[in-house]
Amino acid sequence: MIYNCPHCGGLLEAVYGKPALPANDLKTLWRSRRTSNAPLDQSGVWRYREFIPFLGEDLASAVTLREGCTPLLPGKLAAQYGGLDSLVFKHQGFNPTGSFKDNGMTCGASQAMRLGMTRVACVSTGNTSASMAAYASAAGLLPVIFIPHGNISFGKLAQALEYGAKTIQVEANFDQILALVRTLAERLGIYLLNSINPFRIEGQKTIMAEMLDQRDWKVPDWVVLPGGNLGNVSAFGKGLRELKELGFIDRLPRLAVVQAAGSAPFYDLWHSTDRSHLNAISHPETLATAIKIGDPISWPKALHELTTSNGLVEKVTEQEIADAKAIIGRCGIGCEPASAATLAGIRKLTAAGIMRADADVVAVLTGNVLKDPTYIHQYHTGVLRTGTGEAIAPTFGNPPIVLPNNEDAIASFLSA
Ligand SMILES: *Cc1c(COP(=O)(O)O)cnc(C)c1O
Repeated sequence: MIYNCPHCGGLLEAVYGKPALPANDLKTLWRSRRTSNAPLDQSGVWRYREFIPFLGEDLASAVTLREGCTPLLPGKLAAQYGGLDSLVFKHQGFNPTGSFKDNGMTCGASQAMRLGMTRVACVSTGNTSASMAAYASAAGLLPVIFIPHGNISFGKLAQALEYGAKTIQVEANFDQILALVRTLAERLGIYLLNSINPFRIEGQKTIMAEMLDQRDWKVPDWVVLPGGNLGNVSAFGKGLRELKELGFIDRLPRLAVVQAAGSAPFYDLWHSTDRSHLNAISHPETLATAIKIGDPISWPKALHELTTSNGLVEKVTEQEIADAKAIIGRCGIGCEPASAATLAGIRKLTAAGIMRADADVVAVLTGNVLKDPTYIHQYHTGVLRTGTGEAIAPTFGNPPIVLPNNEDAIASFLSA
């Protein structure tokens, strides 16, 4: 299987001709599918199938768990905290397995079916494996997942096991395992569903189509998202550019990628005078395991998309992520640590005067609050520590309170 261009070595991407229908007709068609009971119309990915036509007319191999269809949620307290008049979250944690990986995986698994594959594999810090396990099993494929030993959130590993994946833990970090699995997949004829897979990128494009559809195609000023391997920002950028080329929108939002400070090779690249190559970080550190990537595979694409959209890269500390996450929780919304990097980044960008207070901002929450309950409990009880052992202050801590089994004591506590 070829994933890279034989000439330049870059990752391949899907390219199509123009759809048969003009943008306005497609907008109407896509909107009308929301009232349909057909499974592919109910999917927030396949509803936009003319935008990702890699299966052609034959949709029989499409496998859906009704992914996408994720809400736009305004967060008042989060806006205040971020220095904005208003802020809307596009919450991808509402997906079937709780992260945006489902938007891509529905397409990756469908392509594997189309190619007649029987086994699929990925290496993942968690959400990719949870998602791939679910979609492969739903399609009748055998999922094989490789995970770094240690440093994985229990919720995600539990999902992979429950969805029936053969799960192999290897004593190496993410980047080392990825190299190993690429060779293994070739040797054993297993279809790779890592973010080098161009069809996953196609599925993730629809997050931007759905967001714009939900806003009646009003383009925001900014779209803010966390960055790890940088597949998602590549997908958003590609999707937005294509929507503009096809006449759905007349301008691009600025893309802002936020990285964790201990795992920010793309931030360093962006702020370097030489953007011709990325200096990988051999020991990335962050409790936001979904973005703990030292050698992001999609950086050339991401760089192109940020340049095209007049975007930027910000980085935030572990304390900033933890506090922003608690604020998102207090909005009644909640998310996993990596997702909260968005709000932490917004707070820095408004403070620096780069993002205006009256800007129209959509922040993408990439994963569900229940992905990492250990982190949450430790934060609120004041025992959370970074990977290098520094204490994280429970700035917005909300620990449980122990009281005696005594009505008066509880009443007086509650009236205080
Ligand atoms: C995968 C993931 C990310 C990082 O996305 P990339 O495409 O690797 O940049 C961020 N947040 C969550 C919850 C994820 O699962």
